[in-house]
Amino acid sequence: MENHKILFYVKLDKFYLENKGAKKPWNYEEMQEVTNDILLAKQAIGKKRTRRQYHLLSLYDTIEIGNKHNIIKKKLEGEDNVIYVTPYEDLFEKLYSTHIAVGHGTRDKMIFSLKAKCQIPRPVIQIFLECCQVCHKKKANRHANLVIKPIISKEFCSRAQVDLIVYCARRNTKCTNNM
Ligand SMILES: [Zn+2]
Repeated sequence: MENHKILFYVKLDKFYLENKGAKKPWNYEEMQEVTNDILLAKQAIGKKRTRRQYHLLSLYDTIEIGNKHNIIKKKLEGEDNVIYVTPYEDLFEKLYSTHIAVGHGTRDKMIFSLKAKCQIPRPVIQIFLECCQVCHKKKANRHANLVIKPIISKEFCSRAQVDLIVYCARRNTKCTNNM
């Protein structure tokens, strides 16, 4: 797991360095700033809000749990689920527990399981999966099974046996003839 985590963050950092257009999830510090901004904006009734505050309020909200403010996605009308924004530093733990819960499941299973509770960009999930050694081994085993399967199949064995009997029979005849 520790190797998985190290590899994941190395690849993830590289991904966001190379893809400047992709929105990198906020780290703890940025989360704190955004939380403060949202709280200020909510209090600023009648006062002028900054563009950033308008933007943040249109997408996010905060929820207080045990004295700690968490950022959540703004709920759409009729939506019940609280979807948490996951800080960069917590991405691995969140993905890891979900990945284990779905039995090292595929990307689609991960997306399905995550989307009801937290917001994690797809490339992050993809990179997480690429770094999972257990999944790699599973894939390699599946591949090996595909290669071995026709050889160990019943049909092949029985065919091989028939061929062998015919061959032996012919050989015997030939041997007898020769004798
Ligand atoms: Zn896995």
